[in-house]
Amino acid sequence: MSNRPIYLDCHATTPVDERVLAAMIPYFTENFGNPASNNHVYGWEAEAAVRQTREILAAAINATPEEIVFTSGATEANNLAIKGVAETYFSKGQHIITVATEHSAVLDPCKYLKTLGFEITILPVQQDGLIDLTELEKALRPETILVSVMAANNEIGVLQPLEKIGEICRDRQILFHTDAAQAIGKIPLDVQGMNIDLLSMTAHKIYGPKGIGALYVRRRNPRVQIAPQMHGGGHERGMRSGTLYTPQIVGFGKAVEIALVEQAKENQRLMELRQRLWLQLSSLGGVNLNGDPTQRLAGNLNISVEGVDGAALSLGLQPVMAVSSGSACTSANTSPSHVLTALGHSPQLAYASVRFGIGRFNTPEEIDKVAQQAISTIESLRKQTTLV
Ligand SMILES: *Cc1c(COP(=O)(O)O)cnc(C)c1O
Repeated sequence: MSNRPIYLDCHATTPVDERVLAAMIPYFTENFGNPASNNHVYGWEAEAAVRQTREILAAAINATPEEIVFTSGATEANNLAIKGVAETYFSKGQHIITVATEHSAVLDPCKYLKTLGFEITILPVQQDGLIDLTELEKALRPETILVSVMAANNEIGVLQPLEKIGEICRDRQILFHTDAAQAIGKIPLDVQGMNIDLLSMTAHKIYGPKGIGALYVRRRNPRVQIAPQMHGGGHERGMRSGTLYTPQIVGFGKAVEIALVEQAKENQRLMELRQRLWLQLSSLGGVNLNGDPTQRLAGNLNISVEGVDGAALSLGLQPVMAVSSGSACTSANTSPSHVLTALGHSPQLAYASVRFGIGRFNTPEEIDKVAQQAISTIESLRKQTTLV
């Protein structure tokens, strides 16, 4: 085990925290009931556990438990939000606004809606990865029904100005959806204060299990309606049918609970680790930080390295660290990252980029080892290039 590379890819996924696993285990065997069975104690127990997670998630974003719809993850939550709104409100308007740096789980549902006749505006970002609010205002039309802007970017960690976006949308009575897969548990979120109408979450980026997520759907001021994308027994108030996956839901609740309790202290620790890594790497020169230096997730460092080949860099780092390179993170796709090209990077520089996702179980010693290896790899690649 100790010979495996150091895991620094926490934006892709995270290990399940032991405390989360311990909370989940009884719900596979003893407490296996179906939360929808309301005639016996097996069902009641499961329903109580599900209810508890609903309360934890709602409290985490200042919503009510009735506004939480469980899904299989953030991909499904995004699909349900975007297609669900499009289907319900199409007679009101058929224009949707999103951003070039969104996750494919937002961009692809939008592309799909385009084939059905919807108009999609994809806003550019500034060099720091943030959207320009005046560009957003200019893009709004009378027939705009939805604005979808992510809370925290999964590649460059940039935090978009949710409160200001929410204000702009609310003034014009346009629904605002945010993909908060990378944000829940890591930064403060408040659907009231930020005027968010729909918010997507997932458990596996915060030390919870894979395969479980949720969508917040506002019930009041205004009441948001979404067409279900999964029909069946009418679970989740008709918005998402299918037997609830109780063990995963219990794990999701526990993961969020822990993340919130530890948030302030953990963010401080992660920021120190990130700074420790950045100070060493940037001493090289020709190493550039991608994304705003302060408006970003504490555990995210994304760099572009000048004067090296992206594939060679990736190969050189692999034995020591598990990180992500600047190619698109979708499987079997080797085009340059759409996020880095949206920042204005050439494909070459986008390829020669590395995303470090520092997490709960990383130590200063690991950071130093990673920094040393990265520095020696970059130096030797640069030497080879000058020899040629
Ligand atoms: C991971 C991620 C998703 C996908 O979430 P799943 O739960 O894996 O479906 C969507 N959006 C962002 C920003 C992500 O980081």
